[in-house]
Amino acid sequence: MYSRSQELFERAQQSIPGGVNSPVRAFKSVGGTPLFIRKAKGAYLYDEDGNQFIDYIASWGPMILGHAYEPVVKAIQEYAEYSTSYGAPTELEIKMAELIKSMAPNVDLIRMVSSGTEACMSAIRVARGYTGRNKFIKFEGCYHGHADSFLVKAGSGVATFNIQTVPGVTGGVSADTLTCAYNDLEAVEKLVAEHKGEIAAIITEPVAGNMGCILPAPGFMEGLRNICDREGMLLIFDEVMNGFRLAPGGAQEKLGVNADLVTYGKVIGAGMPVGAFGGKRHIMEVVAPLGNVYQAGTLSGNPIAMIAGYTLLSALKENPSLLTELDEKTAYLKEGLDKVLAASGIPYVINHLGSMISIHFSDHPVTDFASAASANNELFKKYFHGMLKRGIYLPPSAFESWFLNNALSHGDLDKTIDATRETLKEIA
Ligand code: PMP
Repeated sequence: MYSRSQELFERAQQSIPGGVNSPVRAFKSVGGTPLFIRKAKGAYLYDEDGNQFIDYIASWGPMILGHAYEPVVKAIQEYAEYSTSYGAPTELEIKMAELIKSMAPNVDLIRMVSSGTEACMSAIRVARGYTGRNKFIKFEGCYHGHADSFLVKAGSGVATFNIQTVPGVTGGVSADTLTCAYNDLEAVEKLVAEHKGEIAAIITEPVAGNMGCILPAPGFMEGLRNICDREGMLLIFDEVMNGFRLAPGGAQEKLGVNADLVTYGKVIGAGMPVGAFGGKRHIMEVVAPLGNVYQAGTLSGNPIAMIAGYTLLSALKENPSLLTELDEKTAYLKEGLDKVLAASGIPYVINHLGSMISIHFSDHPVTDFASAASANNELFKKYFHGMLKRGIYLPPSAFESWFLNNALSHGDLDKTIDATRETLKEIA
């Protein structure tokens, strides 16, 4: 069934570290051979063996309207004719910035980069430059990319592979990254008291997606906002996953909490390599060439990436019912999964908001990294493979959110619920 993927994985390992260009793809924690994908359309992925899968990864977020969404494909084709990069300003970059400003709150100025990592790394630099302070707080199990200072108690692949200390990240860098549990305001207060006047910012995923999906407890984000205001610290929302998915205005709109700086990623490139950081004018004015906080990129604002993202975001802006439909589909899936999981007798937790959802096999609420990590990962592995065998492609780690896309039909969702019922019978 996967013979060509197996062959390709063998071959890939001869020339690519671990056979993959990003660790979670390797299926290392769930075991087995990663699927090598040939193409995708709508809600379906097709691997090199010709198998079809219903896709719940959506390229880790961006395929909100499904793969190979026709207006995006057409726009890319049209713009590719004009060249793939100029290294000079284009009108398209202005249109993109204006579009994001029109959708997301608290973004007066926005700078394009080429990945979520760059966006978060640059936002931290801006916060440090603006406040003149060195330290920042991040939450255990949140992932903000692979820049040195973020690889402390990080989620996603760092959690999946249980990497405690990342060789190559110096103690000097890590010392300025303060961490505590997500959803624990008291712990934040403690850090702030211990490092009075030294903390530039708190960076958080408003709705966490890198330890499975974990929701902010009522009052948690508001609490962070208050602490930042009181202490002269900046609140950075990492909306790499949340942005333009949870609402047209992202998590800020969905949760009704204002950030000082916001980072975006893959979504705003519709799957092309893009990221961005933006925020209030008086803060963003420290960025070069206005100020001395230097930040740059040869391919930043790349025209193909811009037109792809612009086309997707425009569709979401012009037709807000697309996100409403997607949320309804996710709620439908949740209800169905709830029924079959409850009937199975296996302890489980489904966390869900908008079109982000995940299952932890746990008998206690999953509200932070520790509770996510104490869930039954062996059972998750079996569930993952049972689903894969039945044509459902889930994230290959319990430390990742699922991302739904609006090309999913109710038939696809029913198939997913049925596959869960059958898989649970098999693994119980
Ligand atoms: N922030 C969050 C919340 C993410 O989920 C990710 C990647 N999944 C990043 C930052 C880093 O983005 P990239 O992989 O594009 O560098």
